[in-house]
Amino acid sequence: MNIVERLDAIYAIAQHRAGYSAAEDAAHELAARWMREAGLGVSRDEVGNLFGTRGDACVWAGSHLDSVPTAGRFDGALGVVAAIEAAGRLPDAPLAVVAFRAEETGPMGSRRITSVPDAYLELHIEQGPVLAGLGEPLGVVTAIAGQARGFRVFEGRADHAGTTPMDARADALVEAAAFILHVRDCAREGTVATVGAIEVEPNATNVVPQRVTVAVDARSADAKLLDALIDDIGFEVQWKSDPVAMGDAFAAVLPDAPRLMSGAGHDAMFVPNSSMLFVRSLNGGISHHPDELSSAEDIALGVDALTAALDRLAR
Ligand SMILES: [Zn+2]
Repeated sequence: MNIVERLDAIYAIAQHRAGYSAAEDAAHELAARWMREAGLGVSRDEVGNLFGTRGDACVWAGSHLDSVPTAGRFDGALGVVAAIEAAGRLPDAPLAVVAFRAEETGPMGSRRITSVPDAYLELHIEQGPVLAGLGEPLGVVTAIAGQARGFRVFEGRADHAGTTPMDARADALVEAAAFILHVRDCAREGTVATVGAIEVEPNATNVVPQRVTVAVDARSADAKLLDALIDDIGFEVQWKSDPVAMGDAFAAVLPDAPRLMSGAGHDAMFVPNSSMLFVRSLNGGISHHPDELSSAEDIALGVDALTAALDRLAR
């Protein structure tokens, strides 16, 4: 089976393979079979992460096999099947292929890793349009963005929408609308900021809005820029993660590939000494959607780079 056929086989189990579901179990079983065929010894840790190990492995490669309800066939699965392929091409190298549990909900598996590899290598689809825009098949990830999530509340006064004159209103949603534009304008080079959810009370057509809660998501791969963005926007942070710098395992084998940050979280955030390589996403970079696509040619280049990086490290 080639890599595209393996991605098809995993997708055929189920489009939605929720963490710790029967569908994720089945995908892990299939990957375990391919690991054995590649000459790897299969084991699982206490949280169900799957390892295919050869020799005294200090170098890991992999990703995750769970998926979101609207998933395509590349997110996560590509990194696992690519690592199995690379392991097969390096029959003498001590290494481990890993499939982490439940990345899309946490991540739950990689977050609980206790053993420390010398290096963890993850090949992943970009899930965005940057590489396609550059006309480049592969991009070295410099860092995974830090994220801040929280909200800002606007208080007004509920009034009758028909009888209250415009100049006598305290409309919380009008205030919130100006804030949403402000959030967009605060995001400058190297940062992104999004309002993806609002809650309007009482949320009735004929009532002036009394109270609006606006959810804010702000991200940057630069910790200082992220803090400045939070200050500029002005919102109550409920949850925050720091940016995580990626290692140079892929930069060493692809010195001329473009560098980019990852705006999305990945297992590599939680595993020590991680390096990540992105494969160009087609169809406008769409992801978490059945139209998610990377070409077989780009994937082949990614697997070549993963193999070269593992060959360099696993000695
Ligand atoms: Zn993923």
